[in-house]
Amino acid sequence: MNYRGRFAPSPTGPLHAGSLVAALASWLDARAHGGRWLVRIEDVDHPRCPPGTDAVVLGQLAACGLMPDETPWVQSARGDAYRQALESLVASGQAYPCACTRQDIDAALAARGVVRERFSERPYPGTCRPESGGLGGRPARAWRFRVDGSTDGRVEWWDRRLGNQAQDVAAAVGDFVLKRADGLWAYQLAVVVDDGAHGITHVVRGEDLADNTARQILLQRALGLPLPSYLHTPLVRGADGHKLSKQNGAAALDLSGPVRALQAAAAVLGLPEIAAHTPADWLERTVPAWAGMMRVPILGVSR
Ligand code: GLU
Repeated sequence: MNYRGRFAPSPTGPLHAGSLVAALASWLDARAHGGRWLVRIEDVDHPRCPPGTDAVVLGQLAACGLMPDETPWVQSARGDAYRQALESLVASGQAYPCACTRQDIDAALAARGVVRERFSERPYPGTCRPESGGLGGRPARAWRFRVDGSTDGRVEWWDRRLGNQAQDVAAAVGDFVLKRADGLWAYQLAVVVDDGAHGITHVVRGEDLADNTARQILLQRALGLPLPSYLHTPLVRGADGHKLSKQNGAAALDLSGPVRALQAAAAVLGLPEIAAHTPADWLERTVPAWAGMMRVPILGVSR
């Protein structure tokens, strides 16, 4: 098999202990399969990415011995590919322009008796669907993917750690955004187009992204792209029980001892403690341990 895996950090800040878990797992999985490991800088949300952070992230990975096999791709340079994908979805009737503000969406949901809880998803009520009257003379703000129609809104998929997964995307999310009202490309479209263009066969990433997978599978099908396999890794939680994230101020990875940082990430993945003096030695010794863990059908790592 021509295994191609990737780590796809958003350079909104330096990597933290949680991001290293996903980076390490994706690297180990690629090496254990004799495959290639790529890094993609996911800076589609450009205003949230301070200049120079991509170099900081690549430097942190290098300090841990995690070197990409190909020159990293940068999403902010990939607009033409995303535009082409959107145009092909529009041409096949699977994407349409939307004029709704958040308030419009809440009002339409309320009119149907849907009470939205704070912070819950806003399943798009389909106001701007062509058969509901389209934009109705209002200016287009965003572009949305149509979840039903030729595609079925319910998606089932297999995760190598979490097992069988299913989501009814039509009910949970509705027609989701491909291009945002602020003109930026949505994560869902960018990640699917780039995984396709990169020939990614295995996606290994943090569990906080698992609930995006069904949407991404719908997009892969709509764009005629091959479906990668998925493995979502355990999250690192802070003292408050919340997952570490840049948004809640997680500290940058402590690289005063890179082997120690790698050992901590490995413990989260359920790997045994392995000693070594350098990151390169440690990584070499850890690949067989990862390969051994892969022989069980669902990984034995703690959830
Ligand atoms: N850029 C995303 C993040 O930093 C990861 C995307 C992915 O792995 O699919 O959370």
